[in-house]
Amino acid sequence: MLNTHYRDISNFMSQVRHNWTKEEVLEIYNRPLMDLLYDAATIHRKQHDPNVVQVSTLLSIKTGGCSEDCGYCPQAARYHTGVEGNDLMTVNQVKAQALRAKESGSSRVCMGAAWRNVKDGPEFDQVLEMVRGINKLDMEVCCTLGMVTENQAQRLAEAGLYAYNHNLDSSEEYYKEVISTRGYQDRLDTIDNVRKTNVTVCSGGIIGMGENVEDRAGMLVALSTLNPQPESTPINALVAVEGTPLEEEKPVEIWDMIRMVATTRIVLPETQVRLSAGRTQMSREGQAMCFFAGANSIFAGDKLLTTPNPDVNEDMKMFKLLGLNPQKPFTKKVQPKTVEAADSQFETLGEKPRWTRPEHKIERNEAAKAKGKLVK
Ligand code: SF4
Repeated sequence: MLNTHYRDISNFMSQVRHNWTKEEVLEIYNRPLMDLLYDAATIHRKQHDPNVVQVSTLLSIKTGGCSEDCGYCPQAARYHTGVEGNDLMTVNQVKAQALRAKESGSSRVCMGAAWRNVKDGPEFDQVLEMVRGINKLDMEVCCTLGMVTENQAQRLAEAGLYAYNHNLDSSEEYYKEVISTRGYQDRLDTIDNVRKTNVTVCSGGIIGMGENVEDRAGMLVALSTLNPQPESTPINALVAVEGTPLEEEKPVEIWDMIRMVATTRIVLPETQVRLSAGRTQMSREGQAMCFFAGANSIFAGDKLLTTPNPDVNEDMKMFKLLGLNPQKPFTKKVQPKTVEAADSQFETLGEKPRWTRPEHKIERNEAAKAKGKLVK
């Protein structure tokens, strides 16, 4: 129990704590909204400039055809979603897009590949070249490529990677209701591998997948008890895509999003909290409340991997309206140095790590299969 009157809470809560309990996080999430917003905004102002928001660009460098069964994802090969698969983009294509993103105000490029895990070989070498190319444009480079080994994380770090994204998605309990092709511990192990390098960690999740409030709190406990806490935490609102097992989930209420952002800000006070998928469903007023509650990053561009996202010009108009300024790159941490492939200290190990594949049955997926909706 938080036995402290709300006016005092922001003082002790702006310290980073790694021992949050689910009960405490739930109590924060469920507080009267004005109290919750007041504390979250107070903590936000102690740790961050409230008028600065990072603009990031997400590039899908390899789309579709994924072997995993993430219930929210239109890129899983087993779902009928009409997403067209693409081979890995070329280094020049990626550099050209990164340059365009920089010119329109982005300070970070996040490259996503629809892979279960990174495999050593020419495609990974190509991604390393992309990392080198974008870091040389003086932009923060993030990758989300699935599970990685320590050696692969070291090679990414050496190429100049700034951040690695690997979301926990939900609580450990609810994760099993959404994904059966890997386990929660695989996620934590990958984050641990990234932590052995100087690459920062980006990890968050999705609300609106049918989880309850306890699951949302459970995810925040899992993230906040990581030591160090992630430097970046995306909070996504599910975009229910036809053909996925979660196609019938209702859009997330803005109030849930605001509560989730505010609670994240309180339990992860130093972290960059990212408003990610689902922004097209949010009004400007709703987004403004999320910024007040502690969100300090958005993804720009008309697509978020494969789902719609607000147009970058609309975002810039919103920034002007709210008096927000885009964050400069490397504000939170110095730019990593890029080591060229020829000078690498790390050999390609050609590892075959044994990431788990529980393959348990998910009731919702079984029901969809019975209706002939999913491929397998
Ligand atoms: S979220 Fe990533 S790992 Fe899961 S199906 Fe989509 S592309 Fe594959």
